[in-house]
Amino acid sequence: MTAKQYLDSVLTELQIEAKKSLGQNFLVSDHVIDKIIQRAKGFNAKNLIEIGPGPGALTRFLKDFPVEFQVVELDRVLAEYWRNKGLQVLEVDALQADWSTLIPNTQTLLVSNLPYQISSSLVIERCLDPHRLMGMVLMFQKEVAQRIKAIPDQDGYGMLSVIAQTYWKVDFLLEASSHDFSPPPKVASRVLVFQRLESDLPDPRLFLKWVKAAFLHPRKLLASNMAAGQAKVSKAKVSEWLVSRGFSEKARPGELSVKDYIDFFRSFQ
Ligand code: SAH
Repeated sequence: MTAKQYLDSVLTELQIEAKKSLGQNFLVSDHVIDKIIQRAKGFNAKNLIEIGPGPGALTRFLKDFPVEFQVVELDRVLAEYWRNKGLQVLEVDALQADWSTLIPNTQTLLVSNLPYQISSSLVIERCLDPHRLMGMVLMFQKEVAQRIKAIPDQDGYGMLSVIAQTYWKVDFLLEASSHDFSPPPKVASRVLVFQRLESDLPDPRLFLKWVKAAFLHPRKLLASNMAAGQAKVSKAKVSEWLVSRGFSEKARPGELSVKDYIDFFRSFQ
């Protein structure tokens, strides 16, 4: 059965339609689904989590992995559907879920065609939480994927790039067009693969505050942003640090690499 036939059969059985409010754009491309599943297999994870199984484009394959599998689904009808099929279902908003129980060990993998409303917050939370996943295979709107993977001076380089790349090695897996979904979203999508990096940064939430402060006004000077933002560090101290690392004291936030931001933060702790 093709992905499209499968989707139609589940939607008919449940007598439901996609809900825009829940970011429901269901995958109907066998090729895209297969690539995601194969990449997920490559992790050899011991535990598996999927956010938003929906009617099950990915779920129908993920549930056959010989590992413990949990799904998080906010849609009541779909949560019930998977519960009746014997899956462990957490019927909550993935941003509010108790991730300490979802992630029982360090060999846990997250797979999701993410509802776009929660995608950047979900990535940030998965960076900061001390309960760490081994990896993630995630579908994003193209523009969000670009922000996550951007490097200095590229379009979209900012807070999300620095935070994501501090905690994860991020690789591009594939691009999906709007026709790969039903209903088709307005924009193209991308799947990124995240592999955990070891990080010993002392206080991830404070680091987030620093990076947010740094990019407060992307076109202004880093030193002014830092002085104005929540990090409360003086302009003079930031300028001094910049010069000590070979930057101009007039450096803008987009000039520092992820490594530079880690160094910058550490220097003031
Ligand atoms: N995995 C399916 C469905 C993707 S659509 C596929 O690829 O076809 C996104 C899914 O996330 C929907 O099932 C939607 O109900 C669910 N969802 C939306 N917001 C959510 C949230 N905050 N927490 C958990 N699931 C959510």
